[in-house]
Amino acid sequence: MIDHAAISGTILLVDDIEENIRTVLGILDCYDIIPCTSGAEALEILTEEHIDLILLDVMMPEMNGYQVCEKVRANPELKEIPIIFLTARQDEDSIEKAYDVGAHDYVTKPFLPRELKARVEFQLKFYFTLKKLEYIASHDQMTGIFNRRRFFEIAKEMFNENPRDSMYTIMLDIDHFKRINDKYGHALGDIALKEVTSAIASVLPQGACFARLGGEEFAIAINGQNNDEINILAENIRSNVERTPIVGEGVSFNCSISMGVCQNDITFGNIDELLNSADQALYEAKDSGRNRSIFRGSGTHQKA
Ligand code: GH3
Ligand code: MG
Ligand code: MG
Repeated sequence: MIDHAAISGTILLVDDIEENIRTVLGILDCYDIIPCTSGAEALEILTEEHIDLILLDVMMPEMNGYQVCEKVRANPELKEIPIIFLTARQDEDSIEKAYDVGAHDYVTKPFLPRELKARVEFQLKFYFTLKKLEYIASHDQMTGIFNRRRFFEIAKEMFNENPRDSMYTIMLDIDHFKRINDKYGHALGDIALKEVTSAIASVLPQGACFARLGGEEFAIAINGQNNDEINILAENIRSNVERTPIVGEGVSFNCSISMGVCQNDITFGNIDELLNSADQALYEAKDSGRNRSIFRGSGTHQKA
């Protein structure tokens, strides 16, 4: 027996025949289901609602199920949603076509209620597990921001896709963090890491990629700024961290961070070289007294 109450999700049900919709609603009564009767309507709902699974009829006037499926798969925001085809067609060509256009599963009418329930449940479980694993693989567990692996993926894409001068990277490191741990203990050190993360995240513009690279070291990759804007941003980050109190039992203290800010330019062959330069600027910030940012603009870089 499947424990149907154990999993929930929002299902988009697309079928041009009202009676089919009623049948499926009756079988899958433990789910939140949004029914609709055409492909066009389905695509519109998908842009407005959060959907975890699509049950899709094949034969529909105007836009058939295969066409709807292709459109969903072509949309980066939607392409991973599981799709189960519901159809009276049982020939091998139709089944093959469903998988070719991106179906996850295929259920033939008339439905066997327990089979339909089991297939829906399996796809939802699989989808949620996949999303969870993707999240774990791309995020830092303690702070909830991107991890090193995801940062490099995104930053590499930004490096390859944007005009050189409009991309900046910032390397950030908490000052004298070892002393903080030594003085206040590792647990409060962890709280400081989280508070510093929030203080930085709260001043970042949309589209900035912010990650914990490891330990007390962070990185930002950002586009569409100019030199003045990036330096104002760095100053906002610095001052916001500095004035954020870290509060523990009977103690309160403040942290500071140092930053190396580097503008991309043609001297860099890849993202690693750009980050290296930001890292050198960070060392300079540390050496020259900490709690500051050092900026390296385009045209000032010397390749190591
Ligand atoms: P600097 O200003 O030169 O960066 O000095 P620092 O003390 O911050 O740098 P250092 O590299 O000597 O020490 C980093 C410390 O960060 C040592 C390590 O124990 C601590 N640390 C790294 N990861 C964590 C963590 O997840 N939690 C806590 N509480 N501490 C961490
Ligand atoms: Mg139909
Ligand atoms: Mg440090």
